[in-house]
This record gives sequence, structure tokens and C-alpha cells, in this order.
Amino acid sequence: MVRSIQELASPYVRELVPYSPGKPIEEVERELGVKGSVKLASNENPLGPSPLALQAIRNALGEINRYPDGGGYYLRRALARKFDLVMGYFILGNGSNELIELAARCFLTAGDEAIIADPAFVVYKSVAQMTGSRQILVPLRDYRHDLEEMAKRVTSKTKMIFVGNPNNPTGTSVEPGEIEAFMTEVPEDIIVLFDEAYYEYMPEDLQPNTIRYVAEGRYVLTLRTFSKIYGLAGLRVGYGMAPPPLVELLNRAREPFNVNSLAQAGALAALDDANHLATSRRLNEIGKRYLYEQLSMLGLSFIPTAANFLLVDVGGDGGAIAQALMRKGVIVRPMGMYGLSRHLRVTIGTPQENERFIRALQEVLAES
Ligand SMILES: *Cc1c(COP(=O)(O)O)cnc(C)c1O
Repeated sequence: MVRSIQELASPYVRELVPYSPGKPIEEVERELGVKGSVKLASNENPLGPSPLALQAIRNALGEINRYPDGGGYYLRRALARKFDLVMGYFILGNGSNELIELAARCFLTAGDEAIIADPAFVVYKSVAQMTGSRQILVPLRDYRHDLEEMAKRVTSKTKMIFVGNPNNPTGTSVEPGEIEAFMTEVPEDIIVLFDEAYYEYMPEDLQPNTIRYVAEGRYVLTLRTFSKIYGLAGLRVGYGMAPPPLVELLNRAREPFNVNSLAQAGALAALDDANHLATSRRLNEIGKRYLYEQLSMLGLSFIPTAANFLLVDVGGDGGAIAQALMRKGVIVRPMGMYGLSRHLRVTIGTPQENERFIRALQEVLAES
């Protein structure tokens, strides 16, 4: 008897729920006969990439016959200066996603426990599962991480705690004081991963200072990305900050050329583009206010956001409403897979995109 390919697979992989990326937008548009859809499904920066990044990438194109700098020297040096730490505290990843996975692979093994909020970014659960560890899921409280409960769930088997702040898909953040209380409760030999992909979009009074723990030598890994406010999602580059011994371990498991040369060049230039950053933040604030106002007028409830996306309760079948919106050329994310079947997650776009979303939503709700 030939064993099936499923039987040969690692049991941890066999149990994973496959990620289905769906068809390219262009293909869906062709099938539905729509053109020029607005993409509000992946929390990308609607303003586009920094012009400085584009120029740097163009300048670097002629060298793509060469392998990239595997140490990410210039980008890590720039990050070290920005955060006033030495380069040994920084690691680059093929998106921060890669760093989430690296961290799980470096620290979790079968029998360990990983504490994860639910619902949160699905990647935390899947990378933890791949290692054979047990995932301890702690329900959100009022759509926010319940850090108090998460700290209480620590056992002698706990190795890692994942904290998405702001959380995806809810857009909520915890208060800086809650993080302080949490870090006091959590034993020092547990690795805490803070995923701060939307940090630069947060209101200043909510921006956490988790780098403080990194500088103190706590087992903290803080992740940021160039995919969101920096507008470079397609390049795949993110970074992690952790005490040097932790970074050193991640580096052992890392693929040597994980961040390509164009990504390094683009990210380095984007990091310095204060204008692009400020404009993007402003655009997000304007869009947020507009959407709050319009959604309220439509009588819909939503979760106030600390990021560049909004979780909206559409009061009916979110999947069907997302489909209907797509036929009107507006792409948003239904939340059924997160157990939020009446919700949509919508990225805050440009004023024109937001207006188009509201208009389409109004029509869809009137039709249904
Ligand atoms: C978008 C996002 C990221 C960023 O992923 P990249 O791999 O850096 O593109 C990380 N965490 C969360 C919660 C996100 O929503």
C-alpha cells in the first residue's frame, strides 16, 4: 500500500487550515465585469509608496544580479540610530510575518504552550501549530486583548505570548499602562512577542513603549513592518527588535538572504521620508472621521480603531455583503473565518475610496 501524501505530512501541517489567497483582483474584476475596483481589504497604504523609496529602488535595480546584503547592514544601522540602540538589537524579515514564524520555530516545540488572543492575526495560531505546541486561546474582552487574563493563563509550560497591538482584525489597542501591568505579571523567562504592524498609525497617547523592555533585556520581541504606513507591502520587509542573544538565535534559523536588495533599498529610503509618513497619518485621520460619521448615519456600529482599518458590524451576512460590494467594485474583507460573521473589515482609503465604499454599502444595504 502506498501511503497517501497526507499520511506522509507532518501531523502539525496536516491539521493546519489552508490559507486560500483567492484569485488576483484583475481576474475577479474580469469575471464580474467591473473595472477600477478600490482595494480596501489588506490595510495597505492607499497613498502608495514613498517617492523616495521608489527612487531608491530604481537606483538599486541595476544590481539585482548580485545577492542582497544578508546582514542588512545599512537598514539595520538606520534602525539602530532611529531607536538609539546598537545594531545587534535588530533583525530584518521577509515581512514581519517571517519574523513571527522564525520566533515560533526558534522557541516552541511539542508540549509547549503559546498564549494567543482570539480573534487575533491568524498567523500567530498557525505558526504555533506548526511547531506542535498547544495554543491557549484567550477571548478578547470588548474586542480588545484581555492582557490580565492572558497573564493568568501562564503555566510552567508557557513559552511564548503573542500580543497584536493594535490587534488585527479588530483595530483595537491596549493602554500603555495595561502593558506595564502585564509585563509585571508575566514571568521573566517567557518570550513576549509584540506585533506592532500599525504602530505608526496609532494615536500618540496609545503608542506603547515596548522597546523599553527590549533595552532592559527582557525576552521581548517587538515587530514592526514596512508593509503598512510605509506603503511597501509588495516588497516584503519588516523588522524585529529584541535583546541581542534573542536576535542571535533568530539569525541561526533565518534564511541568509531573506530580505531582497530592492526591499532593503526601498525601506531605507522610506524610513527617512518624514513627509510621506505625516501625510499618510493625516489622510488616515481624515478618512477615519469621515467613516465614523457616515457609518453612524447609516445606523451601523463599528469598533473605534487605533489603526488604518475598521471593523464594521453590517447587521447581516458579512460574506454576502462583501460579495455584493465586490460587484460594485469595492473590495473589503468578510470576517467569517474569525468568527465574526456579521462584520466586515475595511481599510481606511483615500477620501474618494471611502466615499465609494460608503455609497456602495448604502446601495447594498438598501437592496438587501
Ligand atoms: C499586516 C500585518 C502584519 C504585517 O505583515 P508583513 O509580513 O510585515 O507584511 C503583521 N501583523 C499584523 C497583525 C498585520 O495585520
